[in-house]
Amino acid sequence: MAKPSKTSAQTVDVADSYAVRLMQHLVVPTFVIDPKRRVVIWNRACERLTGVAASEVIGTTKHWQAFYETRRPCLADLVALDRPEQLPEFYSEYAARGHNGLGFSAENWCVMPKLGSQLYLAIDAGPIHDEAGHLIAVVETLRDLTDQKRAEMTLKELATKDGLTGLSNRRSFDQMLMSEWARAQRTRKPMALLFVDVDHFKLFNDRHGHQSGDECLRAVAAVVSRHAVRPLDLASRYGGEEFALILPDMDCDAACTIADEIRSAVMALRIAHGAEGAADHVTLSVGVASHIPGESDGGPDRLLGAADEALYAAKRLGRNRVICAERVLAEFAGLGRDPAAVPAPFRRKTA
Ligand code: GH3
Ligand code: MG
Ligand code: MG
Repeated sequence: MAKPSKTSAQTVDVADSYAVRLMQHLVVPTFVIDPKRRVVIWNRACERLTGVAASEVIGTTKHWQAFYETRRPCLADLVALDRPEQLPEFYSEYAARGHNGLGFSAENWCVMPKLGSQLYLAIDAGPIHDEAGHLIAVVETLRDLTDQKRAEMTLKELATKDGLTGLSNRRSFDQMLMSEWARAQRTRKPMALLFVDVDHFKLFNDRHGHQSGDECLRAVAAVVSRHAVRPLDLASRYGGEEFALILPDMDCDAACTIADEIRSAVMALRIAHGAEGAADHVTLSVGVASHIPGESDGGPDRLLGAADEALYAAKRLGRNRVICAERVLAEFAGLGRDPAAVPAPFRRKTA
């Protein structure tokens, strides 16, 4: 390690001290900056963690280069500058331990340019003051939590995603439906829901085998997913061969347009079906509903029920079509069927 510069009165002459040698060999990756934010210590564990040698950074303010590609402060810099208000700008997780000189803690993904691989680091930075209360150094220690973070992310993925299609699973759908419903209630905006069901899928399995059935579901899922384009849109596998799409801030007409695009896109895939009683290619039926939730409306049950009824109506009207909940009776009448003969509610068995 190079000797720290002694030009600043506040720079600690620590190079040969016992404490510095201790820090050098500490297993915890650690570096220290002076009040002018120049690196005075960069220990061995920090060299190993970052791939950056002490000789490259000692005496400079280039410690950020060990972690990031573009210039930005490290946690130690924010402590030296006493800028807790900038923590949210630079870190995904953070805590300032008050203004009483205890420093900051933070976590984030670091690019690690020298290593060429990202690391998720937990970082602590604490100031050191002299007897007069002047800042003489800031110590930053780092912990590599990449493995734990990856495991946590995988678990989260498993808990929220459907294994076959990669779409959100039923559990995330239920959660999102509740939270978006509550938001629509506050904002008084419509919220649309699509139920997308593969037509005669049991016959498809019987004819082409379960493996091909799985492939077909993946292909349909990809189409459904492509139509959830806005940040809060959610495409999910509701169960079996049925998918649900939550489209916040959307009225029935716009939702029907999207539903028909999904239906057409799956037809365009021309996945052979051909079972007796089914079409030549795989088709979809879609039930659409959209509501502006009123203050006195309870949960989203009415919306769910309406989309469900619309899907059931689409099946009864011959499949391969989009039916909007608001127009169910009109559709039946338009086809010359007696609306009175339509069972109400159009409950079908859930998947
Ligand atoms: P409808 O047009 O009325 O919707 O008829 P359907 O045959 O599609 O509906 P039904 O509910 O009778 O059958 C759904 C079938 O979906 C039965 C089930 O074996 C199949 N299925 C459910 N999940 C999976 C899956 O993960 N993979 C495969 N290959 N098939 C599945
Ligand atoms: Mg079906
Ligand atoms: Mg079904």
